Amino acid sequence: MSTTAVPFTATILGSPRIGPKRELKRAVEKYWSGRIDRAALESVAATLRRDTWASLVAAGLDSVPVNTFSYYDQVLDTAVLVGALPTRVHGIADDLDRYFAAARGNEDVAPLEMTKWFDTNYHYIVPELRPDTSFSLDPTKVLGELEEARAQGIPARPVIVGPITFLALSKAVDGADAPITQLGELVEVYAELLAVLADEGVGWVQFDEPVLVTDILDNAAELAERTYNRLGEVAKRPAIFVATYFGELTDALTALARTPVEAIGIDLVAGSAGALAAVPQLKDKLLVAGVVDGRNIWRTDLAGALETLVRLRGSTAAVAVSTSCSTLHVPYTVDAEPDIDAALRSWLAFGAEKVTEVVALARGIGEGRDAISAEIAASDAAIASRKSDPRLNNSQVRERISAIITSGARRGPADLRRTAQQDRLKLPALPTTTIGSYPQTTAIRVARADLRAGRIDAAEYVRRMRAEIADVIELQEKLGLDVLVHGEPERNDMVQYFAEQLDGFFATQNGWVQSYGSRCVRPPILYGDVARPHPMTVEWITYAQSLTDKPVKGMLTGPVTILAWSFVRDDQPLADTAFQVALAIRDETVDLQSAGIAIIQVDEPALRELLPLRSEDKAAYLRWAVDAFRLSTSGVADSTQIHTHLCYSEFSEVIGAIADLDADVTSIEAARSHMEVLGDLNAAGFSNSVGPGVYDIHSPRVPGVEEIATSLREALKAVPAERLWVNPDCGLKTRTTDEVTESLRHLVDAASKVRAG
Ligand code: GLN
Ligand code: ZN
Repeated sequence: MSTTAVPFTATILGSPRIGPKRELKRAVEKYWSGRIDRAALESVAATLRRDTWASLVAAGLDSVPVNTFSYYDQVLDTAVLVGALPTRVHGIADDLDRYFAAARGNEDVAPLEMTKWFDTNYHYIVPELRPDTSFSLDPTKVLGELEEARAQGIPARPVIVGPITFLALSKAVDGADAPITQLGELVEVYAELLAVLADEGVGWVQFDEPVLVTDILDNAAELAERTYNRLGEVAKRPAIFVATYFGELTDALTALARTPVEAIGIDLVAGSAGALAAVPQLKDKLLVAGVVDGRNIWRTDLAGALETLVRLRGSTAAVAVSTSCSTLHVPYTVDAEPDIDAALRSWLAFGAEKVTEVVALARGIGEGRDAISAEIAASDAAIASRKSDPRLNNSQVRERISAIITSGARRGPADLRRTAQQDRLKLPALPTTTIGSYPQTTAIRVARADLRAGRIDAAEYVRRMRAEIADVIELQEKLGLDVLVHGEPERNDMVQYFAEQLDGFFATQNGWVQSYGSRCVRPPILYGDVARPHPMTVEWITYAQSLTDKPVKGMLTGPVTILAWSFVRDDQPLADTAFQVALAIRDETVDLQSAGIAIIQVDEPALRELLPLRSEDKAAYLRWAVDAFRLSTSGVADSTQIHTHLCYSEFSEVIGAIADLDADVTSIEAARSHMEVLGDLNAAGFSNSVGPGVYDIHSPRVPGVEEIATSLREALKAVPAERLWVNPDCGLKTRTTDEVTESLRHLVDAASKVRAG
């Protein structure tokens, strides 16, 4: 090693930062609305950092990630670090306001885009690089956190998004070349940073390079070698730890092994240990072995993990134990859940529990298996309990699924379905509809809070929700929409609503996980075989249908989306779990049909989200995703119309799958992608009906009649009138009733105008 840093033995790659009680969320939102000043916000942030570090050291980690705190996002923090904020915010004098303007925009400037962090549900801010972007180092944040940590006596290891990943995730604007072409220049800023950190006496620095496990760059290995050779040769620097995660490190591992970096982190949950055997050069490095799953909530098999670690010790200089990735993706602690049964509780490990596992494993390597025999016994007992729990093996569900799959989960031919549905529904050309939700009114929020606090009983809650449904139906009748919806007032969340009613799911009370900025979600835990003890939506939909002669669409969430937004089982293939959820949805569609509902929408907004990171895995995923959707929608008669809704515009990779879903009607985001979607669908052989969104619900702007009519006329060039639907591009729940009323009035007017020719 060119440095004198001592190898560490136990760490995690990063941790949650929003606060155990979402303290940071509250403080940041108050700061945005001017209810607290910067000093108050900074004090909340400093307390959170201090408590986080103190608990990690107390638990026994000997290297603690710092600079993993963020007011909004770590990629945006990196953009600040390397001087790559967009020029449109440069004029904002206050650095924090400038930062938040880049993240969220303000009256004068548009925000940067946001997109998913690899295949997680965390969203990062996408840096924009112009032809004239020139990088420059601003280490204020990382040095500030280091100073705090040092004052607290923390063995601090700054964590920074690595240069290759930073550029791979950035976006070129104003005609700039692909961001990655600026790697050489950016690496010099990182070299400068290394020198600054060395001056501060930093022993280890972690560069996160998850992009190296993906196919995003085609010469990732070569870039890794060049980058880390250059950074390795910086004369005075901390020891470098290159962390990779979310997949198996293959050729980039061989490349990194040839560079002078002191440590390499690999994800042994998503990847395997096999590749290491092929890398003899690893002998002089610290291998940071991610054996504890950082992004799912299951307790680790300590005996198995220890065996892996002991085996690894043979092929490298030293092994440190770690989580597979940052625990940003799991809730803080199982202790915050009062209502879990003892068995389920024993199967789980959230952020704090994972730290304990890491520390135990490190002790197991250092002192031998006997030193942690109690921990191993508890882990073995939990695994045995999970294996034998009847909730994980519902033979009735399993038999029904194989029977349906054997008999072929198919509907009749699409043209026969179209005729049967037209005879039944008698819809006009260019039918108008909406995607499902209507604005979340204050009355809805108050009712939910009242129910939770016990101020009202279930019957009163139902009464208030019915009143909301009646309002929404009346509004749609007045507007003259053709296919109505009930508005989804009873749904806190389109996944949690179903998870709360299905067997096999546990909905946490405090299991918040950061989704983006100050926003958190509470993914349900899908732990067992899924079964539907009772209908979940029928009463609401039939109530709505009783108020109108127009058809009301039943509204369900599809199996892939339910999986994507839950913590899923790790003891069986994801496809098997998807089929179980699909069966429950299928039963619901059949019940809706029996109750007289003629149109049912099964939303799959997350179809693209679960797409694997490596090309070679994509086809298999899309196959089971399509099969699960078909399983969930093929139980109904040909005369029942199945809709689906997809909400992204970037869908080239899943276009074939969208056609294969074979929904009768597909509504899809298109307001911002100008109908290109339709040409792509045609090219993929799609010949069912389609509703390209003609009203961008992500913006408060009300589209005009002529504007919508123009979109429709353009759409008609690609799709004939009998296959074209008219709808917004997503649910309306985030908008106000006034905006929605006016926009939908314009939408209905535009449809009649275009129908009239
Ligand atoms: N039916 C849901 C709604 O309208 C769909 C939401 C989504 O696409 N994310 O809210
Ligand atoms: Zn949507």
